[in-house]
Amino acid sequence: MTIVDIKKAHRQSDLPRHWWQGWLCFVLDQSVSFLMTHEDYVLTPVELMRFNAGIDKMKDGVPLAYLTSEQEFFGRVFTVNEHTLIPRPDTERLVEVVLDWVREGSMVSGKILDLGTGSGCVAITLAKELPKWSVLAVDFSADALSVAMNNAKKLTADNCAFVQSDWYQNIHHTFDIIVSNPPYIADDDEHLAGLTAEPIMALVADYGGLADIRRIIHGAKKYLNKQGLLIIEHGHDQRQSVQAIFEQCGYQAIMTMQDYGGNDRLTMGVCDD
Ligand code: GLN
Repeated sequence: MTIVDIKKAHRQSDLPRHWWQGWLCFVLDQSVSFLMTHEDYVLTPVELMRFNAGIDKMKDGVPLAYLTSEQEFFGRVFTVNEHTLIPRPDTERLVEVVLDWVREGSMVSGKILDLGTGSGCVAITLAKELPKWSVLAVDFSADALSVAMNNAKKLTADNCAFVQSDWYQNIHHTFDIIVSNPPYIADDDEHLAGLTAEPIMALVADYGGLADIRRIIHGAKKYLNKQGLLIIEHGHDQRQSVQAIFEQCGYQAIMTMQDYGGNDRLTMGVCDD
């Protein structure tokens, strides 16, 4: 079977094009341009078997990133597995907003806490982009932490440390910035039906998806330095509720920002205490 045969076979596929294409590139260890320039390439029996096995898994709901064990985030490749959420492009906005905050405040160095780090994509990216800062990344899941720690090693993020913790439970310092992409999907959200492969603990929260967000916002008051920033990713319909929690806790300069699709996705507040 040639590449052009595969293209024809998948023209009507239910799978997103970048999934089967990305998987084909991974199996052949080639770039997308190879698929265009070498359409007559005949797959070896081993390549074809591996390709088809992966297609079957994806049809069963396994995302491409779990087949390849990798996902790009902010220009770097992170290892992921079934213990970690797959980094979303929209979460790159969280990183951008933090970097803008640091630049606008001309802050040379400081401390960042990342709550619920998963694959470590946010913490490690910030550590790499802000080499003079120190980042502490926490996760409740020891399995996720080991993925994050391997990513930090692979990407040489020496200024990023890790600790297992149920949110603030094992945290004993204060920080200039706290970031989090916590679970925020309500357990009755229909969107969940399409997210069967990822760890439910990283996706779903009680109280309509707000339980962990509430804990994080309340707790941050104790763990932020004066004028410290808290920034949280949340659901597209949670702006009002999240802003209300920030307000109840007495944060200043509360602001919501949109993701690349124009949805409300991030809310920040400054601790004035
Ligand atoms: N943004 C992700 C999604 O909707 C969920 C991420 C999260 O719960 N933190 O697919």
